Amino acid sequence: DPKEAKGVVDRAVTRVLTPGTLVDEQLLDESAANQVAAIQFLESGDDSAAVLAIAELSTGRFTLHDLPRSRVVDELARIRPTELIYVETADGSVPQRVDIVRENLGLSLTARPGWMFRHDDARDALLRHYNVTTLAGFGLDEHDPAIGPAGALLHYLLETQAGSGPDDTRDARERLGHLRPPVRQSHDAFLTIDAASLRSLEIERTMRTGQVDGSLLATLQRCNSPMGKRLLRQWLCFPLRDVEQIHVRQHAVAALMADRDFTENLAEQIGNVQDVARIAGRMAMGRATPRDLVALGRSVGRINLIADLLDARPAFISHHQHLTNLSEAIAPLADAIAQRCVDDPPAHMREGGLFRDGVDAELDEARSLQRDANTWLAAYQKRLIESTDIPSLKVGYNKVFGYYIEITHAHVSKVPDAFSRKQTLKNAERYITPELKEFKEKVTTAESRAVEREKTLFDALCRKAAAQAPKLSAFAELVAELDVLGCFAEIATRFGYVKPELVEQPVLAIEDGRHPVLDRTLGERFVPNDCVLGLGEGSKASREQGIDDACSGSLALITGPNMAGKSTYIRQVALITLLAHTGSFVPAKSATIGLTDRIFTRIGASDELHAGHSTFMVEMTETANILHHATDRSLVILDEIGRGTSTLDGLSLAWAIAETLAVRKCRALFATHYHELTTLAERMDNVSNLHVSVREWGDEIVFLYRLLRGSTNRSYGIHVAKIAGVPQQTLQRAQELLDTLAVQTDATAVEAAASSPAKKQPEAQMSLFTEYVHHPAIDELKAIDLNELTPMQAFDLLRAIIEQLQDQQSG
Ligand code: ADP
Ligand code: MG
Repeated sequence: DPKEAKGVVDRAVTRVLTPGTLVDEQLLDESAANQVAAIQFLESGDDSAAVLAIAELSTGRFTLHDLPRSRVVDELARIRPTELIYVETADGSVPQRVDIVRENLGLSLTARPGWMFRHDDARDALLRHYNVTTLAGFGLDEHDPAIGPAGALLHYLLETQAGSGPDDTRDARERLGHLRPPVRQSHDAFLTIDAASLRSLEIERTMRTGQVDGSLLATLQRCNSPMGKRLLRQWLCFPLRDVEQIHVRQHAVAALMADRDFTENLAEQIGNVQDVARIAGRMAMGRATPRDLVALGRSVGRINLIADLLDARPAFISHHQHLTNLSEAIAPLADAIAQRCVDDPPAHMREGGLFRDGVDAELDEARSLQRDANTWLAAYQKRLIESTDIPSLKVGYNKVFGYYIEITHAHVSKVPDAFSRKQTLKNAERYITPELKEFKEKVTTAESRAVEREKTLFDALCRKAAAQAPKLSAFAELVAELDVLGCFAEIATRFGYVKPELVEQPVLAIEDGRHPVLDRTLGERFVPNDCVLGLGEGSKASREQGIDDACSGSLALITGPNMAGKSTYIRQVALITLLAHTGSFVPAKSATIGLTDRIFTRIGASDELHAGHSTFMVEMTETANILHHATDRSLVILDEIGRGTSTLDGLSLAWAIAETLAVRKCRALFATHYHELTTLAERMDNVSNLHVSVREWGDEIVFLYRLLRGSTNRSYGIHVAKIAGVPQQTLQRAQELLDTLAVQTDATAVEAAASSPAKKQPEAQMSLFTEYVHHPAIDELKAIDLNELTPMQAFDLLRAIIEQLQDQQSG
């Protein structure tokens, strides 16, 4: 405080603002967690591992993650920290394995010196902070590699929150008092979604705009509290693998759906709970405002109402129990806040005004002096009027000049000597007297005494709240969970979702499934589709659901023209599978979903740009990842694989990839424009063909968006070009070319290849591609000058070419 300083005012860094350690309400998005991560790669022993420590300073969450190095980008993509701390290198360069993370995820990087990550220093920092003698209680054994990054992260947080401002008696350690002990998170508990799938399934943001709007998250977002909003994102990005846990959530959603009043009441109560998790954090860090305190009191004040709503409801026994236990500890805090603080608190403590009258004797006394001021001034004015005999004399106050006595010019001669002039106005003079000065002093000190007193009281209440930080966080977590469950119930009721049945067998049987996002935007116009994968013919599950299962291998190839709905269909299956694992209901008439360990997606590369890599390289990298890791419990979605290279290459790769997946028996949907691939179904039992139906109407086509059995070999590209507004002349020319080229397609050769065993006859396999092989007829066609031909000549020439081709075929 400059007032207290002798000579130069002491200066110090009190806080370092970094992207990952921001806690200020105005700077944060309430629906996204703001996290900072520290990473350390392990060089020795298990050479391909990395350890991550992740903290959310605003709420005090602190987690540890052990990962194979190959999964670092994928896991960070769904955790989505905003800042990553890594071990500084000698030359200050960013190590490549760290740079890859930045390139993929666009987070900011911070280098910290190596000693912070060193085991002993890191362990000491943790021991000191948590005031313990061993870390065993946190599940960290003596040589646990996670200690390095955990300690470094803690160190970094202490550094940024140094805090020693004038009103600040907390030290950095106290400020981080709400940081919970680190908890190790096992990633095997969750269905794996890699970074590419997260992006292409548009789970939390869209591919085109990068915004939340239009994503699965936005479509399902019906949470009423900020904590719920953040947890929904978490649940969508980390679907469960444990069927028991999924059932618990489903059970709760069903219970909510069964009782509309209950759902609505709960939603209303939860809507009144503000961001308790973050407020508790700000309390601990000494960065809370009076509004935070009142909001906290009001929010926690709901705890018993919420607990009562859950009473005697079997699906919520544990929530009820937890809330009741917590209530004992934190309801008194809420009461204290409500009793002491006004309903409409000031934005900051500078001028006081937070505490009610009657809660503190010292404050009351200081305040009464201020309040009595008006009475005193009125009396003083009266006295002066009498003594000076100036009836128009006024005693007043303004912010700039303080207290004054105002006398019009007409009476200036009557002013006593004791008045000293202060200010001249147009019609009047203003004066001050020693008496008035003294009064001013008294009032001002009373004012600042009151403000000081309020600050002290505020601080005490904040500390009281901070001491309950773990319980407040627990309350926030319960509210968040109830909120998301309520959101699932709301969505399911409103949009006709059903409870999926989760089974151990690696199957999929979805009846009338819908794409959750398009279903909403298209409404009635959306055409639902079935999906059957991995069921033997005539299996029980599919019979029960009345699904046409004549083709139900584990791999389905989907063909059809552009814009017919292939991509939508395969994404919809992936999203329904994902939703089923979050405990949510799914947009379908019925669904049986085999428990899934991973969802892999590779969706059309053509419109994506990647820094420094060709799209084809990216496509193949992601495909390699799929082929390496897909198991018979995985779901694989492939969209137009092979597009990024020459047709021949692309087809060969697509073919080989499909074969590999079919052999491995993982559930897979493969949308492709390579019609040749559909012949795979004839050779492998495990592969079936689906196509998207289209109706021809004169020379128009109508998309029906219905998935049907079997394949199609017409792509209707020219029709699509027409819809897209390609000029008539160009379309005509394209049609001419197509008609000519189509003649060359050697359909029988394709069939021959397909019916022959795959690997043993490379020549037969190659004849697949005669479509693309040079043919003498092409030369002839090229030599034609259309302008010189009459229609009859053209016809004759065409006939000759066709004959030539047919001869060759039969020969
Ligand atoms: P493809 O991958 O076959 O080119 P898309 O899946 O991208 O086609 O779908 C193209 C458009 O068709 C979508 O943007 C959507 O407007 C519409 N569409 C797709 N599937 C359906 C459906 N089941 N019902 C109604 N419209 C659909
Ligand atoms: Mg597509």
